[in-house]
Amino acid sequence: MFDKIVIANRGEIALRILRCCKEMGIGTVAVHSSADRDLKHVRLADESVCIGPASSAESYLNIPALISAAEVTDAMAIHPGYGFLAENADFAERVEQSGFAFIGPRPETIRLMGDKVSAIKSMKASGVPCVPGSDGPLDDDPETNIKMARKIGYPIIIKAAAGGGGRGMRVVHSEAALINAISLTRAEAQATFGSNVVYMEKFLENPRHIEIQVLADQHGNAIHLAERDCSMQRRHQKVVEEAPAPGITPEVRAEIGGRCAEACRKIGYRGAGTFEFLYENGEFYFIEMNTRIQVEHPVTEMITGVDLVKEQIRIAANETLSHTQDDIVVRGHAFECRLNAEDPKTFMPSPGTISQFHSPGGLGVRVDSHIYNGYCVPPYYDSMIGKLIVHGDSRETAMARMRTALGECVIEGIKTNIPLHQDIFSDAAFQAGGTNIHYLEKKLGL
Ligand code: ADP
Repeated sequence: MFDKIVIANRGEIALRILRCCKEMGIGTVAVHSSADRDLKHVRLADESVCIGPASSAESYLNIPALISAAEVTDAMAIHPGYGFLAENADFAERVEQSGFAFIGPRPETIRLMGDKVSAIKSMKASGVPCVPGSDGPLDDDPETNIKMARKIGYPIIIKAAAGGGGRGMRVVHSEAALINAISLTRAEAQATFGSNVVYMEKFLENPRHIEIQVLADQHGNAIHLAERDCSMQRRHQKVVEEAPAPGITPEVRAEIGGRCAEACRKIGYRGAGTFEFLYENGEFYFIEMNTRIQVEHPVTEMITGVDLVKEQIRIAANETLSHTQDDIVVRGHAFECRLNAEDPKTFMPSPGTISQFHSPGGLGVRVDSHIYNGYCVPPYYDSMIGKLIVHGDSRETAMARMRTALGECVIEGIKTNIPLHQDIFSDAAFQAGGTNIHYLEKKLGL
């Protein structure tokens, strides 16, 4: 096992990783920007290194500074968390070339999944159900593209192979708009992602977002840890997540989860990962794979009892999975609310000093957050200040527990989206379960 790990991230996930390392008896190095000296995990880490100024480009995205931090502290591995460099294949490669373990998939796998066209190709070949589409990059021949779109059936969506963060896609409702839409998406993709490769998919009109968590070690073992429903979204950003997904039976879970685990074995996947699907009319359609720990991983931990970060570290240290598929049993129901420093109505970020913080608590309540009384939320980074997670024997109990926890949570000095969460948890359709990815925006009148 590693004796020291560099935590190449900030905020709640850095604290989550630090707690795990402490529990495992692993030394910790916090790296931080000059604006983040007061982060909770920086204070709790065994060692800390300032890697640059406030700007992410010069600190959390600064590959040479991160590698140097690992060198000067004599660490053995680097955990990238999520966001920043977590899915940057060049970073993973540099980490390994410098003699450190990268706590994540092999660089080749990150590269394969980072290109959506190659990801879909390899998933299809591995037996994972995909959205009907072009199955490859579009060429420039209008006739071929028109024929293909007719065959798939409108509406269709044109997507950038290198796209991410909900950008680089365009929905097309009729043949008249097709050719222009392809050129526009191409040009945008070139400008935004540096690649003009685009592909075509059937556009699903009212899907849910359901994703499968997997773990795979370097000894050929791969398991799935059931699904999460992340359909409550605004601008493609998840707001509330839950596990398991309402209406998914154990048989359906075993079938789709089994396919994902099998795909991991086929491509030699290493570490924790998530297969994202759109789910409509009882069918799963793969859209992309995330090759990192995800923000919403705690809901899976709550229903399975598996510490996903610990498994990531064990896998990177070449140990075998702690669990077999048969050990994974879904128990009860869990929800997560992402707490953001933002106006609950306008969604404008609201950085500043937290004058009062009273954390909720009690049976089945988990708070993953780095905030404390007097902490100043800097304006430079993502506005998420933590996650409120609850677990209960049933979906109803978990929901009631979340309402209680939200009511107890006091954060003063900045604005937060707690009122939005209260609104969601008192919404009849959300309470019934199974709302689609457009529900929240419609409810908000967006
Ligand atoms: P990104 O990497 O930018 O997040 P995704 O491929 O995961 O891109 O798609 C982001 C979101 O775009 C999905 O969650 C869904 O809301 C929408 N979307 C993508 N593909 C389709 C599709 N074929 N049909 C309907 N909606 C889609």
